[in-house]
Amino acid sequence: MSAQLMPAAFIGHGSPMNALEENRYTAAWREFGASVPRPRAILVVSAHWYINATAVTAMPTPRTIHDFYGFPDQLFAVDYPAPGLPELADEVAEIVKPTWIGADLDSWGIDHGTWSVLVHAFPGADIPVVQLSINAFKSLDYHLELGAKLAKLRESGVLILGSGNAVHNLGGMDRHLEHRGFDWAQRFNEAVRDVMTGSPDRAAALSDHRDWNLAAPTPDHYIPLLYVAGLGAASQRPADVLVDGYAYGSLSMTAFTLDLPCPQQPGASEDAGSIPDSIDPENSNI
Ligand code: ZN
Repeated sequence: MSAQLMPAAFIGHGSPMNALEENRYTAAWREFGASVPRPRAILVVSAHWYINATAVTAMPTPRTIHDFYGFPDQLFAVDYPAPGLPELADEVAEIVKPTWIGADLDSWGIDHGTWSVLVHAFPGADIPVVQLSINAFKSLDYHLELGAKLAKLRESGVLILGSGNAVHNLGGMDRHLEHRGFDWAQRFNEAVRDVMTGSPDRAAALSDHRDWNLAAPTPDHYIPLLYVAGLGAASQRPADVLVDGYAYGSLSMTAFTLDLPCPQQPGASEDAGSIPDSIDPENSNI
């Protein structure tokens, strides 16, 4: 019998407030977590660990990192006490050779790109979580190919998650467009949908799209999608849309799954993680 392939997903995480709120996005994340077989570990590529190296967290008890500014105290109080899994760091380093990955023992942990999703998808916080950094010096193709190299982990019970936003332009946010996307955001997001549900191997080429510079003025929130695209390319399977939508004009909340039967879009609420009035989006690191 062939090994069961663990599903994988890219989640559009949006505002950190999604960690505290219940809306149709968080309902979809919750349903995703409840639908997958219990993973041995969760390997997360978060937009918020964007550094000058490729590294994997290797500490036994990763800390919960509150890497944003200006949000309510309640958000700074969120703790996600999942254990780490140092031996998974070794496994990851081994399967991606000759690509080099460093073991991070004390600098990172579980950032809000990861925990704002996992508090909904895996509220028990009892499954080990390991993060893989995004190497900011590497090309989009490097990330797509590194994602493909991780495919083997899915055969041994590792759930791989990318956490970012397919469209993420904080400077372009408009509070009057709470549940809508600008024309350019919709054009780019639809192109991402077409690629992910058709030929995920082409996801790095979307940097040639006319709206790329608006959709990804910095690529940190787009790159996690490339890891899931690489997994889809490796298994020659397109992704499904888990949930879709926009926030504040310039954020896409779209989430994609691999090898998960696509659930109905749950819930009626249009909310997508509020941004408190006190927040200056450009200086909030969300
Ligand atoms: Zn973010």
